[in-house]
Amino acid sequence: MHYDPNNIFAKILEGKIPCHKVYEDDAVLSFMDIMPRSPGHLLVIPKTPARNLLDIAPDDLAATIRRVQLIALAAKKALGAEGITLQQFSEAAGGQEVFHLHFHILPRWEGVRLAAPHPPQADHKVLAEQAAKIRAVLEGQS
Ligand code: 5GP
Repeated sequence: MHYDPNNIFAKILEGKIPCHKVYEDDAVLSFMDIMPRSPGHLLVIPKTPARNLLDIAPDDLAATIRRVQLIALAAKKALGAEGITLQQFSEAAGGQEVFHLHFHILPRWEGVRLAAPHPPQADHKVLAEQAAKIRAVLEGQS
């Protein structure tokens, strides 16, 4: 299985497709999922061209997961969530649809179920507001 540089997240990394950015540094980019399965559903992707969990170099994976924890904590705080669900799908058989490694961070509340896969696209105003709230928490920590 090879890395296809024409995938949609590679285009977001190159700035060719817009996103509601939450966080960026030398190792990762994080942005809101446009079809959120929970309020505040966001994605963290490494900048290195990895297809999924199965081909990323261990050091790049370690750098990515450190940022996943940082952003999960900020999202939980910013949105007043009670918990976090972390998802990562590798290969089509594993549920992967976009073939650039990504971690899903899903803020959760007691008794509130995740939406089924492929919900309607979210209102961009709402995504922008959520991203701004999470960014504000992250910026307050730096
Ligand atoms: P997976 O590959 O883990 O099954 O899911 C890919 C995820 O990417 C889905 O949750 C989907 O909503 C999200 N997604 C697909 N296309 C775009 C896009 O153009 N922008 C953003 N922000 N998210 C996307």
